[in-house]
Amino acid sequence: MSKHKPKIAIIGAGIAGLNLANLLAEVAEIVVFEKSDKLGGRAATHHANGFSFDHGAQFFTAKSKVFQAFVKALEAEQVIAQWDARFVEVAGGEIHSQREWDDEFPHYVGTPAMNAIGQHLAKNLDVRLNQLIVSIKKPNAHWIVETAQAKYEGFDWVLVTIPAAQAQAILPESLDFNAHLDDVLMQPCFALMLGYEAPKVLDWDAAFVSKSILSWISVNSSKPNRGEPFTMVALSRNDWAGDNFDQPESEIADAMLLALEVIVGQKLEDASYLKLKRWKYANAPRKDEPLEMIDYASQIACCGDWCMSGKIESALMASWQLANKLKDVIS
Ligand SMILES: Cc1cc2nc3c(=O)[nH]c(=O)nc-3n(C[C@H](O)[C@H](O)[C@H](O)COP(=O)(O)OP(=O)(O)OC[C@H]3O[C@@H](n4cnc5c(N)ncnc54)[C@H](O)[C@@H]3O)c2cc1C
Repeated sequence: MSKHKPKIAIIGAGIAGLNLANLLAEVAEIVVFEKSDKLGGRAATHHANGFSFDHGAQFFTAKSKVFQAFVKALEAEQVIAQWDARFVEVAGGEIHSQREWDDEFPHYVGTPAMNAIGQHLAKNLDVRLNQLIVSIKKPNAHWIVETAQAKYEGFDWVLVTIPAAQAQAILPESLDFNAHLDDVLMQPCFALMLGYEAPKVLDWDAAFVSKSILSWISVNSSKPNRGEPFTMVALSRNDWAGDNFDQPESEIADAMLLALEVIVGQKLEDASYLKLKRWKYANAPRKDEPLEMIDYASQIACCGDWCMSGKIESALMASWQLANKLKDVIS
């Protein structure tokens, strides 16, 4: 007689949730619930008026052997490509160092946009978009996950792969690891997106910025396989975003545009598209020891980049770590 596969609900279709779903697909029946209408979470792309902007993760690197192998497979399938950007470090409007990224320590981006990674990982999965989960309950032997309109029942396990503060809002208070979620710091960030009809002349493609309210600038259109008009994405410093999070959009955008003009040394006000994105939970500082949040008795777990550090590699590594633990108890 064939054994009935356990049923798992995964909350969040970011890189961690989608990778986890693929890793457990052999041993369980999986449904992924995602609040937005897009896949990939913070590995995100905003499309508008013929422009596209990677307004979340800008690029990623691969330090661990296991992630390097994963990256090579995605590269072979043309889901990602190396971004050999002309990289500069800018302090107080002056360039302090300059080099070109290359094979020695490759930097990658999704192609034709960062959200290609989420779309690729979701290919064979049952992902339900536009499902904001507002509560998770276990009134009997099985879990129930609920949106404001619908109730999904009968799950043996629930795996929550959303930012820690958002997880805490929907998890049952009684869970042992709930208290540890309080200690997880996630920092905000603003992303300013600018699209131009005519290209700007710059002698760099990516800039790490200090002594400014900005922390990072990408010439988005310089990334591989973009084939589109000139676009830039400027990221604010986390502390500046925290101090100004609720300010009006026009004030934040004006201040960031001014700071950007100082760095590029030219006027940028002729953008034909300008948009600001406020990320409340953008980045997480590096943890000395990876967090592990599994309640084997209740059959619920949390994971995400924030278990390690605010990076795509960490989101993947945290999901691998959790999947390895769960495979032993589920199969
Ligand atoms: C501005 C910015 C710049 C960054 N730059 C870099 C970089 O250069 N390099 C790098 O490696 N990383 C970078 N990162 C971090 C990187 O994007 C993340 O580490 C990674 O994408 C996290 O993946 P995740 O799956 O853990 O979480 P997320 O991507 O946050 O996925 C969680 C998903 O859960 C969904 N969700 C949340 N609440 C609910 C709910 N209640 N119900 C249903 N769904 C829900 C969300 O919509 C989201 O899709 C950056 C992030 C930002 C925001």
